[in-house]
Amino acid sequence: MTELSDADRFLIQQIRSGDQSGWEQLISRYQGRLCAFARKQLKQQDAEDAVQEAFISFLKGIDNFEDRASLETFLFTILRRRIVDVLRQRGRVVDSKTCELATDDASENPLEQIAEPDGLSASGYAERDESFAQQRDALQAALRDEVLRLQADLKFRDLQLIEMVFHAQLRNKSIAERLSMTEQQVALQKHRFIKRVAKSLAEVLPAAESNVDPPERLLLEVWECIRPTCPKRSTLGKFKLATLDTEWLDHIQFHVAELGCRLCQANLDDMERLLDEQATQALCDQFMQSSIGFFR
Ligand SMILES: [Zn+2]
Repeated sequence: MTELSDADRFLIQQIRSGDQSGWEQLISRYQGRLCAFARKQLKQQDAEDAVQEAFISFLKGIDNFEDRASLETFLFTILRRRIVDVLRQRGRVVDSKTCELATDDASENPLEQIAEPDGLSASGYAERDESFAQQRDALQAALRDEVLRLQADLKFRDLQLIEMVFHAQLRNKSIAERLSMTEQQVALQKHRFIKRVAKSLAEVLPAAESNVDPPERLLLEVWECIRPTCPKRSTLGKFKLATLDTEWLDHIQFHVAELGCRLCQANLDDMERLLDEQATQALCDQFMQSSIGFFR
């Protein structure tokens, strides 16, 4: 879910060249999960309006869309910003992040501290200098690598800790309580992770000074942009059918339920809806076929 897939890249090309069927495909591919996400925070009509506006906003800025994040992540980011606007207009206190868990630290990390989605906004890094973009790309790659390494080594507890730091943006104290560790242990693990990211950053970007850690603010921003620990939709499908190894099932359960990743929850809700529709359609087909012989 972290990089632009070939299918999405092709779709973007189609849309840029003015192919309407490409646009239809994009809408049908993403509308379900976006609506499911919006409905968690807004009433039905407002949710649909927000999704509609997000699509329009995406389409208007499509020439500036850069292939730095997955299309899904990007669309969710635009939608989330739109939802925050609607809630603010109604005077609601807004937790803009992707997790339920985040609410206990919401005051620490208001929306203002989180990155704008790049590409579409005036403050996006389309306007920043090239070296900054390069650094950011390298940081994305480094973060992905470190997450992949933890996943490959099946270090799920370390992953949980890192997700609580970067995905839910919890404070050390809160993480320590949840994982039955001391605050110092949490701080140390976090420090080690950042050091490893800095090291692989220095490998992909020789100009980067390996003794300088990337600022935490930037790490949070980049994490938000690529969501490196969110499972692919196909993996979420396997999770739903419980056809993954137990360790992975438990880990995704943590990500979705305990960490409360709203984006993954929206994907699961959408899959549920599609399954319902398929079941309804299958039943409809069955009734149709069994009765057609009597049709005159
Ligand atoms: Zn997720």
